[in-house]
Amino acid sequence: MPSATAALARPFAAIPEARRRQAATLALALAALLFPVYHGNQADIDSLANAAIYASLALGLNIVVGFTGLLDLGYAAFFAIGAYTYGILSSFQLQPEWSSFWVPFQELGLVTQMPGETTGFVVHFTLSFWLGLPLAALVAAGCGVAFGTPTLRLRGDYLAIVTLGFGEIVPIVFRNWASLTNGAAGLNGVAAPVLLGHSFGVNATPYYYVAIVLVSALIFMSFRLRDSRIGRAWMAIREDEIAAGAMGVNRVRFKLLAFATGAGFAGMTGVLFIAKLQTATPDMFDFPVSVMILVMIVFGGIGSVWGAVAGAVSLSLLQSWWLPDLTGWVDAAGSAIGNRWLAQVDLSQSVELIFGIILVLMMLYRRQGLIPAYRAPAALSFDQQHAVVQRGFGELRLSGLGGEAHTGALALGVRGVTVKFGGLVALNAVDIDVPAGGVVAVIGPNGSGKSTLFNVITGLVPADGGSIRFHDEEILGLHDYQILVKGIARTFQNIRLFPTLTVLQNVLVGQHARLSTGAISAVIRPPGTRREEQGAIDWAMEILAIFGNRLLPRAGQAVSGLSYANRRRTEIARALASRPRLLLLDEPTAGMNPAETLELAEQIKGLKGLGLTVLLIEHKLDVVTTLADTVYVLDHGEVIAKGRPDEVRRNEEVLRAYLGRNAQAAAAGTTGPVHVA
Ligand code: ADP
Ligand code: MG
Repeated sequence: MPSATAALARPFAAIPEARRRQAATLALALAALLFPVYHGNQADIDSLANAAIYASLALGLNIVVGFTGLLDLGYAAFFAIGAYTYGILSSFQLQPEWSSFWVPFQELGLVTQMPGETTGFVVHFTLSFWLGLPLAALVAAGCGVAFGTPTLRLRGDYLAIVTLGFGEIVPIVFRNWASLTNGAAGLNGVAAPVLLGHSFGVNATPYYYVAIVLVSALIFMSFRLRDSRIGRAWMAIREDEIAAGAMGVNRVRFKLLAFATGAGFAGMTGVLFIAKLQTATPDMFDFPVSVMILVMIVFGGIGSVWGAVAGAVSLSLLQSWWLPDLTGWVDAAGSAIGNRWLAQVDLSQSVELIFGIILVLMMLYRRQGLIPAYRAPAALSFDQQHAVVQRGFGELRLSGLGGEAHTGALALGVRGVTVKFGGLVALNAVDIDVPAGGVVAVIGPNGSGKSTLFNVITGLVPADGGSIRFHDEEILGLHDYQILVKGIARTFQNIRLFPTLTVLQNVLVGQHARLSTGAISAVIRPPGTRREEQGAIDWAMEILAIFGNRLLPRAGQAVSGLSYANRRRTEIARALASRPRLLLLDEPTAGMNPAETLELAEQIKGLKGLGLTVLLIEHKLDVVTTLADTVYVLDHGEVIAKGRPDEVRRNEEVLRAYLGRNAQAAAAGTTGPVHVA
C-alpha cells in the first residue's frame, strides 16, 4: 500500500537527497567490506565475488548500450580478449626459446628464464596481475577501436548483427589458435595474483575484495563520465544522432570512445575472472555470456549505473544462491504431494529459461527496470507556473553572444547551390546573402526547399554544386559538427531535442564544442574541469533566462514533459548555448499561439540587438515583417523574389506563387497575422 511506504519514508524525507544517497552508499560499502568477516563461508564469498565480476561487466556494457544506445550483442568478446591477454602473459602457455632479447623484460619482472623440456632455456611469462589489469583494459579498448572504426557507422539492427558476429568470432579464434591459447582445453597454469609477497591462491576472500574494489572503481567512473561533457555527448547520440551532430558532437569519435571504454571495463574484469579460476577456456566467453550481461542491465534498468549493478548482482545470486534453495523447496514440495517430476526438477539447469521469463515479465510490467535511469519530474506549483514572465535583455549578461557589427560585411554567402534528391530538384542554383548582424528571412510555400537550404548549410545533406562561404571560408563539404564549431547553430522544423535529458542537459550539450573536458579529466575532475563545468552551467542559466521564467523553473525537468512552445524555446536555447555567430531558425513559432509568437518575436529581436546574425524560416508574415531586414522567397527550389519585407509583400509574383488568390487583402495592408500553409 502506498500509504505504508509513505509512512516509512517520512522520517527520511527531512534529510537532503544527496545526504541520503551518501549514507546509503556508505552503508552498502560497509556491508560489502564486512561480509567475509561475519560470514566465513568460502562458497558464498566466491558467489559474491562472481556477482561483483558480473556487475563490472554490466557497468561496461551499460556505457555502450545504456548511455550511448549502441546495441552490442558481442560484448563478451572484449571480456575474452582481456582475459586471454593476462592469461597468455602469465602462464606456461607460450615458451619461446631464451635469448638476449628477453633480458630487459626479465629485469622488469615480466618474464623469467626456465629450463626447457628438451634443451637450453625457455621464457616463462610472469606478468603481474596488477599490471595485467591496466594492460588488458588497454588491449581490449584497442580492439574495441579497431572493431568499431569500420562498423560504428552502422546503426541499430545492423550494428547489433555485426557485434553478434564479432562475439562469435573471438571465441572461435581462441578455440582454434591452439599454439597461442591451447584451444578448447584452455590455458594452463594462469598465475594467481600476488600482493606483498602473498599469493591469493584459491582462497575466495582476497578475490572478493579485489572484485569489490574493481566494481567500486567502475561505478565511480561510470558516474563521473555520465555527469560530464562526455556522458552528455553519449546520451545525445542515443537520443538523436542528427541533433547531436548539429550541436557539434563528433558522433563516430564518441561512439568509438564509448565502445573502447566499455571494452576496457570488460578487459579488466576478464583479468580478475581468470586469475581467480587460474585457467581460461573459450566457452567461458560464448554468446550466452553476452546475452546474460545484456539481460542483467535490462533487468536492472538500462542506462542506470546502480541499475546495472543491481541487475547483475541479483541475477548472478539468483543463479548461485536462490535457485539451488528454490530447487530444494520445489523438490520437497514434489515429494510431499507425490509428484515425481516436481520432486526431481533441478531449476539451476534451466537458468536461461528463468532469465527469459524474467525478461518477458519485466518488459510487460516494468520496462524501465529495477532502478530506472530517469524519474518523472515533480509538477511545477501554481506559483511557479504563473509567475510573471519578465522580458527584455537589460538585466542579462549575455557576454560572448553575437557581437557582430552590422557593417554590411557578408556573414554567409550561398552561391549557386543545387540539391537534388534523385530526380527531384529541391534547390536550384540558389543565391542568398546574409550580412553580419542582420536578420534575413526565407519564406515560401511548403516543399519549396527552405528546410533543405538549412540542411545544406549545416552539412546535413550534400550539395550537387555551388558554394557556401561563411565569413570568407568555404564550409560546403564540412561535417555537421565542424560547421557548428565554425559558428553556425540551428533549430529544426520538427524539434529535435534529447527527450529524456533535462532542459539544462540539453542546453549543456549545446556547449559541447566550446568545452574541452576529455574522458580522463571527466573521471579525475581536476579543478580546471570543475571550473569549466560550473562555467557551462552558469552560461546555460543565462541563456535560459532569455525566456524569462518559461524555462528557468523547468531546468531540471526532462524535455519530453514540456509544452510544445517550451520545447521550441529549449531548442533555441540549446543552439544559442553554442555561442553561434549565425543562428538558423526553422519555423521557430510554428505551433505557438499569437501571444507566444509575439513574445518569441520580441526575444529574437533582443538577440538581433545583441548583434547576432539570424537566418529565419517563418510562415507568419507579421513576424517576418517585424524582424527581417531582407526577405527571400523560395518557390520550387528557386529564389523568385528578394527585398525588404514590405516590398516582397507587394510583389505580384510572390502573391501568385506563395499567397494564392486570397492574398490580395493581406497585401493591401492588413496588420493582423497572416497564416499561410
Ligand atoms: P520546405 O521546408 O520549404 O517545406 P523542404 O526543404 O523540406 O521544404 O523540402 C523540399 C523538397 O525536397 C520537398 O519536395 C521534399 O519532399 C524534398 N525532400 C526534402 N528532404 C528530402 C530527403 N531527405 N529526401 C528526399 N526528398 C526530400
Ligand atoms: Mg521546412
